[in-house]
Amino acid sequence: MIPFDFEYYKPDTIEDAIQLFNKLELDGKKPIYYGGGTEFISMARMYNKYTGAVIDVKGIPECNVFEFKNDNLIIGSAVTLTKIAEENPFPLLSLTVKRIADHTIQDKITLGGNLMGTIIYKEAILPLLLSNSEIVVQGDICKKTLKIMDLYDKKLQLADDEIIIQVIIDKKFLQLPYSHVKRTKNEKIDYPLITMAALNDNGKISVAFSGLCEHPIRSIDIEKILNNNSVSKDKRIKKSIDNIPYEILHDISGSSEYRKFILYGMLYELLNKFEEVS
Ligand SMILES: Cc1cc2nc3c(=O)[nH]c(=O)nc-3n(C[C@H](O)[C@H](O)[C@H](O)COP(=O)(O)OP(=O)(O)OC[C@H]3O[C@@H](n4cnc5c(N)ncnc54)[C@H](O)[C@@H]3O)c2cc1C
Repeated sequence: MIPFDFEYYKPDTIEDAIQLFNKLELDGKKPIYYGGGTEFISMARMYNKYTGAVIDVKGIPECNVFEFKNDNLIIGSAVTLTKIAEENPFPLLSLTVKRIADHTIQDKITLGGNLMGTIIYKEAILPLLLSNSEIVVQGDICKKTLKIMDLYDKKLQLADDEIIIQVIIDKKFLQLPYSHVKRTKNEKIDYPLITMAALNDNGKISVAFSGLCEHPIRSIDIEKILNNNSVSKDKRIKKSIDNIPYEILHDISGSSEYRKFILYGMLYELLNKFEEVS
């Protein structure tokens, strides 16, 4: 049971959502946006999150878009992980979201909720980082479309009143050769020890990780090291691991040394796999 009362709103337009947010904020309700509610509900039950009002974005048509327009795939923030996996326009994204939680929960979790959750893993972001996707955001003042790498610094840097409306992915990334590997401590359905997603764009590998550090990462420096084919695989991988730009996680799932050991094997398999492709 959630140990406090809160108001529930489901506006039909983005403008109404923003206006509601401002009004509820002024009323001291500390409003939050609501996607699938899986994080909000579990945190509220554990007394880890309080709000006097939630604003459900699932009634906003733009947040439910799932379509191709010009040379882009557009996915609304209220689209569920199940829908993304079933429609399957971007196989790397499908594979990634199919390994988040279980089937029942995937039916609830929205793309926007996974990207904006407080959980450190946010695995759906990995293919978006690799495909240089754009994020459409609406705030009180304006609507903006930003490259994900310009918006992402350990997390998507949004103000409290801003809503993710959509994600835009350039078609050219959708059918590139890809790899997705999720290693967990024990069970198949679990938080990642390390999840690695990668694309191979005409021999150039791009790679992103969740579970390795305190937040998902994509490092251009690591990609340069991995793509330097004049150096042996073993040396490239060891140098990549030495150049992870943030501290490697050390928690109950595994020590940082264990994660480095696992990562070595994952990168070795990745280089071998992409060697076969090219
Ligand atoms: C058992 C279980 C296992 C899980 N395992 C994993 C895992 O291994 N890897 C992983 O990555 N995730 C995992 N998750 C999912 C993760 O923990 C969150 O529950 C989920 O991503 C939240 O999505 P939601 O749509 O339910 O968001 P909500 O709970 O509705 O919202 C989450 C946050 O996002 C904000 N938000 C939602 N939509 C928007 C929007 N459009 N614009 C701006 N802000 C928004 C909300 O205000 C809130 O702060 C797991 C969840 C469960 C329950």
